[in-house]
Amino acid sequence: MSTNTNNNSLYNVDDLQHIANELFKALPNEFPKEISLSPDHNDHPKATKVVETLLSAGNLEEFTPNTSLQNPTTAYPSHSPVSGFGVSPSVGSYANTGVTDLLPTDLDTVFPNDKKFNINNPNTGFSDVNLKRGNDSNAFSSFNLNDNYLPFQTQGSSFESELKEALTSVNTVFGIQSALVTNPTEIQSSYYFLEDNPFAFDKKSQLPALGHKNSFHEFNQLESAPFDANLIKKDFPILREKVNGKPLIWFDNAATTQKPKSVIDRIAYFYEHENSNIHRAAHELAARASDAYEAAREKVKTFLNAGSINEIVFVRGATEGINLIAQSWGENNLSVGDEIVVSNLEHHANIVPWKRLADKKGLKLRIIPVDDDGQILLDEYAKLLNSKTKIVAFTQVSNALGTVTPAKKMVEMAQAVGARVLLDGAQSVSHMKVDVQDLNADWLVFSGHKIFGPTGIGVLYGKEDLLNGMQPYQSGGNMIQDVTFEEIKYHKAPNRFEAGTGNIADAIGLGAAIDYVTKIGINAIGQYEHFLLEYATKLLKEIPGVRLIGTAANKASVLSFNLQGYSNDEVGQALNKEGIAVRTGHHCAQPILRRLGVETTVRPSLAFYNTTQDVDKFIETLWELKKVRF
Ligand code: PLP
Repeated sequence: MSTNTNNNSLYNVDDLQHIANELFKALPNEFPKEISLSPDHNDHPKATKVVETLLSAGNLEEFTPNTSLQNPTTAYPSHSPVSGFGVSPSVGSYANTGVTDLLPTDLDTVFPNDKKFNINNPNTGFSDVNLKRGNDSNAFSSFNLNDNYLPFQTQGSSFESELKEALTSVNTVFGIQSALVTNPTEIQSSYYFLEDNPFAFDKKSQLPALGHKNSFHEFNQLESAPFDANLIKKDFPILREKVNGKPLIWFDNAATTQKPKSVIDRIAYFYEHENSNIHRAAHELAARASDAYEAAREKVKTFLNAGSINEIVFVRGATEGINLIAQSWGENNLSVGDEIVVSNLEHHANIVPWKRLADKKGLKLRIIPVDDDGQILLDEYAKLLNSKTKIVAFTQVSNALGTVTPAKKMVEMAQAVGARVLLDGAQSVSHMKVDVQDLNADWLVFSGHKIFGPTGIGVLYGKEDLLNGMQPYQSGGNMIQDVTFEEIKYHKAPNRFEAGTGNIADAIGLGAAIDYVTKIGINAIGQYEHFLLEYATKLLKEIPGVRLIGTAANKASVLSFNLQGYSNDEVGQALNKEGIAVRTGHHCAQPILRRLGVETTVRPSLAFYNTTQDVDKFIETLWELKKVRF
């Protein structure tokens, strides 16, 4: 097929520019310059190349920058669909908005023989490479992410391979690559990346009976491209590390998560372009830093569906958030004989501050028991609640077992006796939608580093009136309205709780992490991780001598276990030799492990950048151990 000039509407300048900018941002060290579709306005030759690549990406026949693009300001009427580019309406063009009727149906005429792929074959989509692609010789099997040129190019250059890398990482967020290889009949009237949830996890992939080899086969039969953790992985530079000569497999996500490039770049950008203290100066950088910091607060607010930004307090992490509540609200509102209820599942961070407060003030600490699977016993919980119960503090997801607690129900039950509720969201926010208005807890805490953001930053959400009625936790600058030696007036929340200079850069980094998670879609993430957890659980259970600790019906992310014949440290070390990072130990949750009869476990914990291939490697390593010692 020859490249034809098409006079119909193909491109929308705004959208195209948006894609170009996203692609450019993904290039190493270029973030976050804005680029223009007009080469005249671009301050970097690579920017021009990015634009050309985008515009050419759908054109499989040639990768010749189109001369008509050299003056896009005349070629593209702004804010309207653009015509007359001289670019063919190729299948998978980024610019497919509203042009489904223009897409060619005779694929043989579109793709030259040596580059032919069957875009009607779902396996040409970016499925997990571990789940082999179809055997169809016409399939897009020649496309290989390791090729050093774009699939639409005949030859490459070093920048082209850098650009391809960037394109891949942009793809993971915006689904652009999927658009390139998508069945044309599925191309809708908007770009993938403009949709709310570009990676909607295909329910069909949650196979009823997952079998080790079987599932590969069955997965391979899916009619649409599944959520692609392999592409997402590419957004996380550290996941390219080798450990003991093996590719790093990060299964220690419950301890901390890895950071996407966008978060790393955002923090670097802050220090390169915005660094200033906030809220206190008239100069430009103070304004940039304050704006970025407050924008991050706004992102957290939206992410949690809080009612107001005044309900979002930046703290050091979940631990500091819990201590803040214990020492501010607890100190001032609890007195002898009052009761604090926590669950048996809690992390030490949600036990120790309450135990200390109870000891200091003569309060009673009561514990919600769990069954042998590690599930909250709701009837027993109900029996603990009474008019003396002043606060219930519990986790939404157990870090040691992965149990998801019936949080909404538990909040309701506590509030029915007039108790306040603190929800520990440290292990939940990265795995499921957490809507604070729906849950209706009085406070919720989480840590940035467990949701792909930086360490040293976290969030305390609290209902606004409640926060404003609480005494400051720490005091000093930033949290006061007025100071005299006679009287001090405090700010309202959130500033009232942000004394001193906060962790500005990392709050902004947390905002970038939330952007990243939001773009992929927390529900899609949850569904994919659920699939992966089921996959791994099934395989783990097949290994003789494995005892799974924590077998709740509703679990997220975590597989805790012991392996007969081996100490947990031995298992951890054997996995480490293969580049697999898992946690061994008590996971700062000794009471729950002791309740289930163990002191420590091996704890792999999953995130959305983990793949079935990672799980297979992990399982194979355990089988190797079993061969040595039965
Ligand atoms: N709560 C839970 C359930 C956790 O898993 C953790 C950390 O592992 C924490 C609280 C404490 O988080 P941080 O150490 O980030 O303050």
